[in-house]
Amino acid sequence: MNFELSTEQKLLRESAKSMVERDIQPVMDEHDQNTPLPKEAMLRIYEVLARQGLMAPRLPEEDGGGGFKMLDYGLMFEMLPPEIALSLLGQECTIARIFAESTKEQQDRFLPDLIAGRKICCTGTTEPDVGSNPREVKTRVQEDGDSLVINGSKIWITNANICDIMNVTCNDGIDENGRGRLRRVVVERDVSPFESGEIKCLGIRQGHLGEAHFNNCRVPLENSLGVSGDAAKVLTLTWNGNRPLVGLTAVGLAQKAFDAALEYAGIRKQFGKLLGGHQLIQANLADIETLIVTSRLLCYSALDAMDNGQRANGTSAMAKRYATTACEKAISEAMQIHGAMGIGCETGLEKLYRDVRMLPIPDGANNILAMIQGRELVNIDAFR
Ligand SMILES: Cc1cc2nc3c(=O)[nH]c(=O)nc-3n(C[C@H](O)[C@H](O)[C@H](O)COP(=O)(O)OP(=O)(O)OC[C@H]3O[C@@H](n4cnc5c(N)ncnc54)[C@H](O)[C@@H]3O)c2cc1C
Repeated sequence: MNFELSTEQKLLRESAKSMVERDIQPVMDEHDQNTPLPKEAMLRIYEVLARQGLMAPRLPEEDGGGGFKMLDYGLMFEMLPPEIALSLLGQECTIARIFAESTKEQQDRFLPDLIAGRKICCTGTTEPDVGSNPREVKTRVQEDGDSLVINGSKIWITNANICDIMNVTCNDGIDENGRGRLRRVVVERDVSPFESGEIKCLGIRQGHLGEAHFNNCRVPLENSLGVSGDAAKVLTLTWNGNRPLVGLTAVGLAQKAFDAALEYAGIRKQFGKLLGGHQLIQANLADIETLIVTSRLLCYSALDAMDNGQRANGTSAMAKRYATTACEKAISEAMQIHGAMGIGCETGLEKLYRDVRMLPIPDGANNILAMIQGRELVNIDAFR
């Protein structure tokens, strides 16, 4: 066991940090902090990410991917602003899902533009009445000659309003166990138009969280992925990877708050001495650092487990649940060290607090993650 990052890993992290400072943050700064970035700005950022192989980090290099280890990808991911991190996750895990479920002909048709960052994609599973249990998806797909016809609505979908392609999780009847059979259909917006809109949220406001409506949307039959019924398995595998990555986004936000609190404790004086000289403030800082370090290590260890061939269902669920909760607490504590300055908009801490609050929900809300971990512990499925 080695807790020290290798020289290559340190370099990866540094290069991601400079990429953000040089090529990503300036594009974001050109636009309003509280409004989703225009698609044109996102495409400029995607071009930057694509150059680093980040559009398809989980795909082997021989298939056009970045060929990253999950841990190395995570080290870079942690450096990304949350708006870009979530959008990238929507894009790259959709690419991984399409790759896993498609024929060579479909891969050649859909993937090159997505991997180059010329087109934006997403996965639409959640619906107004269906959240934590995707098996209950109601969006219907029916075959009609050489077309598929889709009817239904999706909500809370990352990239929905700016996507060129949505990988839509549809209901295709009932399987032999009486559970919903899922089928994935690639909807190309220029061929099969659908309506969409942004949803205003508490945080990550330059990002894109939206809804989409399919009303007799006709899609070529050859856009159907996989064998009907495989979709749930592919969803789960990619979720396991996503969870520690979302945890690392929380870590990145909390680290920023901690750095600010440490600096403030070194300049602000009360009772005749620096805040940092008061024992209780030192204890507060020690608590915050502990929350961040434990979160980071859990996420790294889940990603490392996947690199070593484990499925890591429980570990990745634990990492995300712990990290998003601990980092929310860490940011709140860092705000407290700033007193009233912490809740004002000037320090940027309130944005970190709003942003981190978005993260315990996607890719498995916290109760769901606890039950995934619990299922491994007691070997009883509490979901059924
Ligand atoms: C930032 C963000 C990005 C997202 N991106 C996408 C995306 O790209 N694609 C997509 O398809 N979806 C996306 N989502 C949606 C997300 O996957 C769902 O919001 C999530 O699965 C939870 O569903 P829900 O909101 O409907 O909550 P519900 O399922 O209604 O759950 C509500 C609450 O009840 C709890 N709960 C549910 N079932 C149980 C149970 N059996 N026992 C105990 N507690 C339970 C949950 O933990 C939750 O706290 C995103 C959401 C967010 C916030």
